[in-house]
Amino acid sequence: MDPKDVFCRVKSRLSGKQVVAAFAHISWGQFLLAQGPRGIEHLGVRITTFLRRLLGMEQVRVLGAEFEEDRLVIDVAPSWTKGRCSTCGATGPIRDQRVRRWRHLDVGGVECELRYSIRRVECSSCGVKVEQVPWAEHDTGFTKGFEDLIALMAQKTDKTTVARLLRIAWLTVGRVIERVVKRYGGDPSERLRGLRRIGIDELSYRKHHRYVTVVVDLDTRRVVWVAEGKDAAALDGFFEALGPAGTAALKVASIDMSGAFKKALRERAPHVRVVFDRFHVQRLVHDALDEIRRGMVAELRDPAEKRALKGTRFALQRSPWKLDAVARNKLTELEKENQPLYRAYLMKESLAAIFDTASPESIHSDLTGWLRWVEAEGLPPLVKAAETIAAHFDGITAYITVGVTNAITEGFNRKARVVTSRAYGFKRLSSFAAMLLLCCGGLSIPWPHVMPL
Ligand SMILES: [Zn+2]
Repeated sequence: MDPKDVFCRVKSRLSGKQVVAAFAHISWGQFLLAQGPRGIEHLGVRITTFLRRLLGMEQVRVLGAEFEEDRLVIDVAPSWTKGRCSTCGATGPIRDQRVRRWRHLDVGGVECELRYSIRRVECSSCGVKVEQVPWAEHDTGFTKGFEDLIALMAQKTDKTTVARLLRIAWLTVGRVIERVVKRYGGDPSERLRGLRRIGIDELSYRKHHRYVTVVVDLDTRRVVWVAEGKDAAALDGFFEALGPAGTAALKVASIDMSGAFKKALRERAPHVRVVFDRFHVQRLVHDALDEIRRGMVAELRDPAEKRALKGTRFALQRSPWKLDAVARNKLTELEKENQPLYRAYLMKESLAAIFDTASPESIHSDLTGWLRWVEAEGLPPLVKAAETIAAHFDGITAYITVGVTNAITEGFNRKARVVTSRAYGFKRLSSFAAMLLLCCGGLSIPWPHVMPL
């Protein structure tokens, strides 16, 4: 039997919509491409109805469609006729209009754009504004569904994959993420509700040239606040949004020892128990160890000896169980040849071991013992680090006694590093800040799975 006859027979028993629906189960997109607009109209469903169902968007009319080289362009319009101000939603007289396009979700693997002659409205309270459209925000060339997809992918995968799979430039992604975070991040003060234990940290962006201050809720493990800068003033906005009641409810703040955040806490929330994060303490000792090694390299005359000592950096910095045989041999050599440096290495490792194993009962005596040892050895950079530790003794031991677990701070630091590398290439610091909230802020973005209308 001729396929055409089959069509006619089926058509005689089913309504046009049902026929389309039956085919849609195979693939809406493929069917559309194979049949072309005329094929669908032949089945008794208007192409515009078909496309309206396919888009699955409320309050959107479809006026027509055409293929343009490699993409499908669908002409749409809002279901309302009067122009509404995109800022406040009020109607007003139309000033002018011009054709604009919005990239939308692919249809059956084909790039799809919505096209509409958008109007500018003379709003009595906002001035001349572009009109509101149901499929997109006013300052973007992407539909909401497509932006959500970009953000969902940027949350999970690297930038090359996002850019290639979605056929977009990575540079544009930063702004998209800012909009999506604004759309689903809710009221910033909402994120701060019920805060008890927080971690405050600075993160560098763009090769350490620029910084943001990040506040993490240690109980939910979510980023709740991101602000530019790394000084006490960076926290002003946080405490203002938190308000007096929220500030009073704060119990613990885990910070580094640099002083800026300590000052802010002393001024704005003096009742909060300040805790110094073990990883910041360990970094201090790490750096001291490296300084000792570099000092010894500088003093050596023999180039071969210089090279050998330079080559120990990796072995000294990494955790011993992560070393390969070559690096372990270097440590063995060091133990024989350079006792002071080897002991400095042991001090670094024992401090880590203290934090790994200490209990609230043992931390005071363990840390005091460690400080005495470092002092007795008398290696200047380490003595200096020990002095800093001694000056912050209460806050450092509190890290163990108030039960801020390593998993939280370490987990966040690891994740933040991934996010930072992924956000690389964003020009604006606000895009990087939005990326942190997107990936670590517990946002729930709707998945762009469409139900045909
Ligand atoms: Zn307005």
